[in-house]
Amino acid sequence: MPRNDDETFPREDEEDRPFKCDLCQDKSYKRKAHLWRHQTYECPNVVEKPKFPCSICSFVFKRKAHLQRHLIYQHGVRNAQISSNGSKSP
Ligand SMILES: [Zn+2]
Ligand SMILES: [Zn+2]
Repeated sequence: MPRNDDETFPREDEEDRPFKCDLCQDKSYKRKAHLWRHQTYECPNVVEKPKFPCSICSFVFKRKAHLQRHLIYQHGVRNAQISSNGSKSP
C-alpha cells in the first residue's frame, strides 16, 4: 500500500498542538482561540442547538462556558446564574 497520503494531508507535529477538541479527538490546535472557534462554529460533533441565552443581550450560546465567558468579557458579569432553556429554575 503506497504511503503518499501524507502529502495530501500534511500534518504538523502533534506536540505543537496542545489544544485538542474533546469531541473530534483528531482535531488539535496550536492556540486555544482556534480550538474555541472550532468548537463554536465548525465542530461537526457539536450537535446540540444553542440553548444558553444571554440575559443581557440576545446572544445565544451552545455551551455554558461560552456564555460565562461572554458575560464576563462583554458585560462584566462574573457571578451570573446560568440555566439552559430546557431547565428553568425559579
Ligand atoms: Zn470538534
Ligand atoms: Zn450578552
